[in-house]
Amino acid sequence: MPPANGVPAALPGKKRRIGVMTSGGDAPGMNGCVRAVVRMSIARGCEAYGIYEGYEGLVQGGKLIKQMKWSDVRGWLSEGGTLIGTARCAAFRERPGRLQAAKNLIVHGIDALVICGGDGSLTGADILRDEWQGLLKELVSNKELNQDQVEPFKHLNIVGMVGSIDNDMSLTDATIGCYSSLSRICEMVDVIDSTASSHQRAFVIEVMGRHCGWLALMAGVSTGADFVFMPEKPPSENWEAQMCSLVSKHRKLGKRKTIVIIAEGAQDRSLNKIPPTKVKDLLSNELGLDTRITTLGHVQRGGSPCAYDRQLSTLQGVEAVQAVLDATPETPTPVISVIENKIVRKGLIEAVKATHEVTNAIKAKNFDRAMLLRDAEFVEYYNTYLMTTATDQPRLRLNKEKQMRVAIIHVGAPAGGMNSATRAAVAYCLSRGHTPIAVHNGFPGLCRHHDDKPLGSVREVKWLDVEGWASKGGSEIGTNRGLPDEDFAQTAKCFELYNFNAVFIIGGFEAYTALSQLRTARSDYPAFEIPMALLPATISNNVPGTEYSIGSDTCLNALVGYCDAIRQSASASRRRVFVVETQGGKSGYVATMAGLSIGAMAVYTPEEGIGIRMLARDIEHLRQSFAKDKGESGAGKLILRNELASKVYTTEVIANMIAEEAKGRFESRSAIPGHVQQGGTPSPMDRVRAVRLAVKCMQHLEEYAEKSRDEVVADKMSMSVIGIKGAKVVFGSMKDLESTETDWKARRPKDESWLKLKATVDILSGRPKPEDCC
Ligand code: ATP
Repeated sequence: MPPANGVPAALPGKKRRIGVMTSGGDAPGMNGCVRAVVRMSIARGCEAYGIYEGYEGLVQGGKLIKQMKWSDVRGWLSEGGTLIGTARCAAFRERPGRLQAAKNLIVHGIDALVICGGDGSLTGADILRDEWQGLLKELVSNKELNQDQVEPFKHLNIVGMVGSIDNDMSLTDATIGCYSSLSRICEMVDVIDSTASSHQRAFVIEVMGRHCGWLALMAGVSTGADFVFMPEKPPSENWEAQMCSLVSKHRKLGKRKTIVIIAEGAQDRSLNKIPPTKVKDLLSNELGLDTRITTLGHVQRGGSPCAYDRQLSTLQGVEAVQAVLDATPETPTPVISVIENKIVRKGLIEAVKATHEVTNAIKAKNFDRAMLLRDAEFVEYYNTYLMTTATDQPRLRLNKEKQMRVAIIHVGAPAGGMNSATRAAVAYCLSRGHTPIAVHNGFPGLCRHHDDKPLGSVREVKWLDVEGWASKGGSEIGTNRGLPDEDFAQTAKCFELYNFNAVFIIGGFEAYTALSQLRTARSDYPAFEIPMALLPATISNNVPGTEYSIGSDTCLNALVGYCDAIRQSASASRRRVFVVETQGGKSGYVATMAGLSIGAMAVYTPEEGIGIRMLARDIEHLRQSFAKDKGESGAGKLILRNELASKVYTTEVIANMIAEEAKGRFESRSAIPGHVQQGGTPSPMDRVRAVRLAVKCMQHLEEYAEKSRDEVVADKMSMSVIGIKGAKVVFGSMKDLESTETDWKARRPKDESWLKLKATVDILSGRPKPEDCC
C-alpha cells in the first residue's frame, strides 16, 4: 500500500533531500560530519534528514527519520560519540530489512544518503546501492509503492565517510575518530610511563582496533614503546626470545621501564591469539620484571574529538554534500578519503573490496600482502618504528665510508614534536652507524666559545639520552632564534671543528631563513658544502615547501581546548561573544583551522585584514543571531582574531566595539591564550609525523654520504625542506623555494593552500557574505 501521506515531491532543480546517518561503533568526530552535512546541505538549498540509530533507523523509519535544521547541530563539533545514535542492526543484513529501508527512504523523499561508519557499515551501503533497482521493483510488485512513486528515486546517491576509531579502511590514510582515539591511548600510556619508570616495572597495554593494528602501531611510534603486537604483522616464530632479548637490551642500556603495546587482535603467525597474559608471563618469568597488564577499554572511544578529527569530519562532510550534488546516474558511489593532507573521493566498492582483501590476506597468512594492502604509509610507519626502537641491528649498519657525523639543531620557538623528531633521528643514526651530534641552543649555542675553546654545547648523543623524548614537549636540546649570519665565520669554523658531514635542522621560519643563509654563504665558506635538510616545526605552520609543520597540530589542540572552555562560559551566560586572539605571526592558518575546529562565527586573518565594513557586518549578524536566540544552549559565539590581523583593530578594540554596538543586548569579552598555544605534551599526530619525516630526512642526507663536495654543491637537493603537499611527502630544494614560494616580507608561503578553507568556516557558521548585506 502507498503511504497515506504519499511521497514528498522532489525538490526543484538539482536540490536534494540528503539523509545522514552514523553507523557501527561510535567514533569521535561523527557529530562533526553530521553538522557539516546538515549545514552544507541547507547552505546549498537542499534539505537534510537525520537518520537516527544507524541502519536500525533506516529499517524502522517513522520518528527515527527527521528533518534537521541549522540550529539542531549547534555546538556539535566538540561533542564525543554520535548524537544521532548508532546501532548494530541485524535486520539490515537481510534483504527484507533493506527492502524496508528502501521504502522508508522513498517515503521521506530522501534521494541521497551520506553514511559515516566503519567497513561493515560501508559494506552494507554498498549492498544497498547494488540492490537498489531490484528493491524498487520489489516494492512496486509487492504494491507497497507504485511506479510513479518510485520513479523519482531511480538513482539513489550514496556517499560514504569512514568513521571508525580503528583506521581499518583501505584507500584512506585516516578514518574519522582514529586520531582522537590515539590521543586518548597516548595520554594513558604517558601516565603509565611515569609510574612504570618509578618502580622499574613493565606494562603490557592492550589497545582496541579489532583486526587492525593501526592504533597499536601508532601508539608504539608515539610513545616509544619497546614492543608492539599487531594482527597484520605477527611477530616472528621465535617472538618470545626476540622480545625478551630486545627488552633486556633496553634494560641493560639503562632503561627503567618497559612498555609493550598489544592490539586486541594480536596473533602469531599461525593465527593463534597472543593474549596479554602470555606476554606478561614471559616478561615476569623470563626477565624477572614486575609486570602489569592494563586494558584501556572504552576510554579509547570516548571524549571530545581532537582538532584533527573535527577538521577531517567537517571537510569530509562538506565534500560529501558536494559529491551528492556532482553526482550523475553514472557516477560511481564514492567514499570520502584523506591521503596525507588532501581530501579525495575514492570508489566505495574498491575501498570495501581492498579492506576485505586485507582480512583475507591475514586469514591466508599472507602478512606481507596484508601490510601492503593497508596503505603505503602504514608500512612506512612500521619500518620506521622498527628502526627507531631496536638498538642493535647489524643488518642495517652501513659501511664505514658511508657513516656520517650528523648535526641536529633546533632553531626558533619550540614546537610540539621537535623532541620526537630528534629522538627518531638519533635512533636512526645509531642503527645505521652514523654519529648523531646534538647542537644545544641553536646557532648561538654552536658558536659559544671562550678563548677560542668551545663551551660544550655540541655533544654526541647516545640512545638512552633521547629514549624518553617521544612524548616530551618543548625542545630538550634547547632552541634559539639566532641565525648563522650573526657570525658566519664562527659558524663555519664550528662546522669544521666538529667535523659535521650533514646537518638536520628542526624549526620554523627562522630555521628556514637559517638554511637559506647557509646556502647563500656556501660560496664563501666551504664548510657549508655539506648536505642539510630542514624539518618544518612551528605552531604557525608558515614554512614554505610544506602544508604542514610539526607542532601546528599540538597548537590547534591546545587552542581548541581553550576555546571549548570559553565557549562553555559564553553559552552558560547565554548572550556573550568572545574575541579570542591566536598566535600565528603573519599567517592566519592557526586562526582558520581553529575556527574550523570549533565552529567560530568569524575568523580574522592577516591575509584578509580587518575592515570597518567587515566589522559592521559581523556585529549586525551577531545582533540578529542574539535577537533570534531563545536561550537555547550553545548560543555563545566565538570570533578568532590572529595577533597580526590588523594594527588598528586589536582584539580588545574589537571586543569593545561589539560591546558598544550591542547596546546591552549582549556582552563581549576578549581572551588571549598566548603561549598556551605552544601546547604541553605534543599531539600524537605531531609525534608520528615527526618520527616519519625525521627518518625520511635522515635517509635523504644519507644519499650524499659518499659524494664529493663538488657533487653536493652541484645538487640543489642537497639543501632541502621536507614537506607534505597535497597527497604527497616531498623534498623541495631550498634554492627553488626561496625564489618561487617564499613571501619573505610576510614570512609565509606565497601560496597558502588552506586559504580556501576560510570560506567553509564562514558557510558553516552562517556568516553573511559581503554581497548579502550592507
Ligand atoms: P566499526 O568499524 O566501528 O565496528 P562498522 O561499520 O564496521 O564499525 P559493523 O557492526 O561491522 O560496524 O556494521 C555496522 C552495521 O552495518 C551492522 O550492524 C549492519 O547493520 C550493517 N552491515 C555490516 N555488514 C553488513 C553486510 N555485510 N550487509 C549488510 N549490512 C551490513
